[in-house]
Amino acid sequence: MAVHAHPDDESSKGAATMAKYVAEGVDVMVVTCTGGERGSILNPKLQGDPWIEENIHEVRAKEMAAAREILGVRQAWLGFVDSGLPEGDPLPPLPEGCFALQEVEAAAEPLVKLIREFRPHVITTYDENGGYPHPDHIMTHKVTMRAWETAADPDAYPEAGEPWQPLKLYYNHGFTRARILALHEAMLARGAESPYVEWIARWEKSEREERPISTRVPCGDYFEVRDRALIAHATQIDPEGPWFRIPLEIQREVWPTEDYELAHALVDTSLPEDDLFAGIREGADIAASATSATSATSA
Ligand SMILES: [Zn+2]
Repeated sequence: MAVHAHPDDESSKGAATMAKYVAEGVDVMVVTCTGGERGSILNPKLQGDPWIEENIHEVRAKEMAAAREILGVRQAWLGFVDSGLPEGDPLPPLPEGCFALQEVEAAAEPLVKLIREFRPHVITTYDENGGYPHPDHIMTHKVTMRAWETAADPDAYPEAGEPWQPLKLYYNHGFTRARILALHEAMLARGAESPYVEWIARWEKSEREERPISTRVPCGDYFEVRDRALIAHATQIDPEGPWFRIPLEIQREVWPTEDYELAHALVDTSLPEDDLFAGIREGADIAASATSATSATSA
């Protein structure tokens, strides 16, 4: 289960990982906390279209449905309203009723309910800084942590279904300094222009700490699926923009993984890992062989 703030986040953070697991037969669910109603239209070809602006909620739901099909995942909405990214100095207050202003305890209930229904072994979300400082991303972290802590507690949210214990929780870390620098340098080494010059300059001024990466999932074969899913969010992405400037063969050669930080595990695993299900598959195999041994005996 991959918990994300807005429609399109699932396609830019961990999408190739999901596509790989789907191809291997894993049942994957994306949870989208908000409808993305306050996202700007970032594709220059669609900017200024009054129909899109008036119907942005429906437009983004349709885009999400297309991305869901491409990735081969299930998807559920938590139904909260996008908080928007406040800009200015001082920052304006968040709009009334938005996701980031909800009480964490109450806002976690629909996610607990989904966890108890879908019964995931692994959950992915953002770290406490949101991965990037959007109030909805930080709130997504808080709500997911609350759900992780309470989904198996029979005294918590008794109306939200039978308790279920997920086994591992990860933070998405797709945009590490190491990865961006490696791609940047690979482009320069080939005499090509790097789309990351400004990004790297901003970093040089910031104090942002690098997070520890515990898990690198090889998924280069699914980068093309990831990009198709992202392009399906047509209002949110410029297909000619910097997202797509690095040829896939360079990405596959230089950084063929999507990367994660293991935040919690209730199974044994040794780090570094290359599989979000490490320590869980082994358990499942043991359970499966135990069952077949029992049935062999009884037969
Ligand atoms: Zn987002």
